[in-house]
Parts: sequence; structure tokens; C-alpha cells
Amino acid sequence: MLHKELNGIRYNKAAVNREMRAGELANRTEGSVEFRMQNISAALYELRMPFIAGYKPARNIGADVKQKMIALLSAYGIESLEPYVPTDDASELALRVSTLRQRHLGIAPKGSTAPVATTSTITTFVRDPAVKAWVLHAAKGHCEACGSPAPFVGNDGLPYLEVHHVMPLASHGSDTITNAAALCPNCHRRCHYSKDRDEFKITLYERIPRLILEVPELSGETVLPMQTSSLA
Ligand SMILES: [Zn+2]
Ligand SMILES: [Zn+2]
Repeated sequence: MLHKELNGIRYNKAAVNREMRAGELANRTEGSVEFRMQNISAALYELRMPFIAGYKPARNIGADVKQKMIALLSAYGIESLEPYVPTDDASELALRVSTLRQRHLGIAPKGSTAPVATTSTITTFVRDPAVKAWVLHAAKGHCEACGSPAPFVGNDGLPYLEVHHVMPLASHGSDTITNAAALCPNCHRRCHYSKDRDEFKITLYERIPRLILEVPELSGETVLPMQTSSLA
């Protein structure tokens, strides 16, 4: 109906309601179908998407109902809704956020007061504490990329810096002092998420003499993109 309406094609709302109750929604009343349509409108309204004019958005739609509606609408081919669907995949989330940031966001989203928890298998690497400690000690409280002092004192009373593997462990980089740098959080994020991360990586090799360039092993395995795993 929405597609028809957006394309200026006339249709009969009551007839569609009857049709739905004759088919998929056989045990529903006319009113319950109406209400369902108004829930869909409410979800669309909140997303600043067009909705069917004859179905005024239902008030006080619950966050869970809204998410269900969005998932349904997106399954029915309203592709532009996909970025609004919650996800537990970190890289997919980043992608959706990026897409939405480039759109007109409209009214503030309700979000969820009780986000669903999921468990998944993630690959982590066994790391040598001595390597990390040595690299942090060598940095003497200053970021090895930009030279700034650590932004704050950590809960262990020591200057807070993060250790980054220049050749990622997921790309078969080594857990050694010649592949690890102590960075401030900004520079660390830049290594993983910035547009210029490849160039920035080269400057790390230039600035930190102990680093040795490692070549990613060609093993036929898929190398995880940097953004997917947690910072390492
Ligand atoms: Zn820095
Ligand atoms: Zn890192």
C-alpha cells in the first residue's frame, strides 16, 4: 500500500484489510489489523520515513515492538530501513552508524532500555604480559606516535597508554616488542579507524626505531579487517 501511495496509485484500504484477514491474518479482527498497521506507521514515523496516510501512527509504541516492525519492514524489501535494525556484529554496527550519519536523522531515537544480550565465539590471542609491560615502560609515559604525554593516570597509578600491534595479530603479526607500540588512545584509534591509517602506520615505522616491518603471511585464511575485532 505504501509503495502504491508513494507512486500515486489508488487502492482501497478496507479491501486490503479484508484480503489480509482472508489470507495470512485469518484469525485477526479488522481492528487488530488496523492497529498493526498503525504500529508500522509509528515505526516509520519515528524513522522519519513516509507512512500510509490512512494509518495514523499508534502512540506509545514499545521499543521492542518498534524493532520488530523495522525488522519486518526491512525483510519486506524496504532496504533503506536496514541500517536502523539493531545488530550484535561490531563491523555491521559501524557500517550502519556511518550510513545513518549521512542521512537526515529526524527525531531522537528511543533506543532500548533492555538491550538483548548475545554470546558469540570470538578469536583472541594469547599475549605475553612482559612484551606489553616492556613496550609501555620504554614509552616513558608518552605516546610513541605523537609524543603527547599519557592523557590520564590509569587505575594502577601508572600513565595510561595502549599497546598496539602494528602488524595485527589477526594478520599473523608477532607479539614482540618489534611489532608493538605504546600509543595514546587517540593515536590507537587512528591506527584502526582512520581514513589515513595506512599512511599513519608507515609513520609509526619511521618514528619508532625498534619496529621491524612484518609481512602478512599468505596462508589462504581470511584476514580479519582491522575494525571487526576489538582494539589490539
Ligand atoms: Zn598519540
Ligand atoms: Zn591496535
